[in-house]
Amino acid sequence: MTIFCYQLCNKKMNPPIKPQESDCCNSGCNPCIFDVYEEQLKRFLKEKHTKNCSLFTFEYVKQKNENTNKECHTLSIIYKPGQHFLLKANTKDDHFTRAYTPIFVENQKMLQFTVVIKLYPNGKMSKYLRTLPIDSETLWRGPYGDFVINFNWKNITLIAQGTGIAPLYSIICAILNNEDCYTKLTLWFCCHSENVIFRTELYDLAHFWNFKYLLFISNVNKEEFPTKYNEPIIFSRLDATYLSNNLEKVGTDSPVLICGNKLFCDTIYDTLHECKFNVDNIFVLK
Ligand SMILES: Cc1cc2nc3c(=O)[nH]c(=O)nc-3n(C[C@H](O)[C@H](O)[C@H](O)COP(=O)(O)OP(=O)(O)OC[C@H]3O[C@@H](n4cnc5c(N)ncnc54)[C@H](O)[C@@H]3O)c2cc1C
Repeated sequence: MTIFCYQLCNKKMNPPIKPQESDCCNSGCNPCIFDVYEEQLKRFLKEKHTKNCSLFTFEYVKQKNENTNKECHTLSIIYKPGQHFLLKANTKDDHFTRAYTPIFVENQKMLQFTVVIKLYPNGKMSKYLRTLPIDSETLWRGPYGDFVINFNWKNITLIAQGTGIAPLYSIICAILNNEDCYTKLTLWFCCHSENVIFRTELYDLAHFWNFKYLLFISNVNKEEFPTKYNEPIIFSRLDATYLSNNLEKVGTDSPVLICGNKLFCDTIYDTLHECKFNVDNIFVLK
């Protein structure tokens, strides 16, 4: 097994502090302290994806063989849509790993990958990542996950909860970007109003003839959540009745991909099972 060493290129930073008028020396510096602030503000807003989720981009530095501890060289980062890597954190008193799923990013530079990460107030890895300086080296291992896209499927239903959208989003992008693939995709995404990950991206993807989606937002009322024109949202939970009524329309042999926390995946799986879905075509990504 090989350990990959990646350098953190950019991540959500703390919001920059606006300089005071008196901080400027008025000598026409280029860049001026206010230009630097504007630039930092733009970066901050861009990289903070939702209230609690941030995008982190890592760039390949070196690769080590775990047994010999020797460096070897790589020319590309290979992983399939939906697969994940394990990030290992080494701190003074502890080391631990967590799984993260690289996402599709248009025109991503070679030897880079990006992950969307929900930062929990007391999460161990969340704390580590929050304070990790840009340019730090991080250790990754993988890829893991054995799901493989079948580009000949007629329809796919994808059901995501929270950060479970990450692998499904990459799968959706891989299918939509394949001009020879005519698979019709339906995504149901259950999330909280403050963390609608890929909200803009999904809205834009809905222009594809073979992609439609529906957001299930259960923690706010319609009046409290400003929506975009024709944005498909149901302000309630995705319940068993909705699932069974709508899945029966696509057929019980049609593939269903599920990704979310264990309770969510188990509940959806059980409902599909009760509706006599072909379990061979139910894929729980973990
Ligand atoms: C295959 C796979 C892919 C994944 N991909 C992604 C991804 O792309 N993006 C992503 O954001 N996540 C992803 N995850 C989840 C991710 O691996 C971590 O579980 C997540 O980031 C939390 O890690 P953490 O160390 O910050 O939190 P943890 O320390 O593991 O804590 C998780 C939660 O439990 C709470 N908690 C911690 N300690 C306690 C305690 N003692 N008592 C009660 N509650 C506690 C924390 O506040 C937090 O809410 C993936 C998981 C899997 C299995």
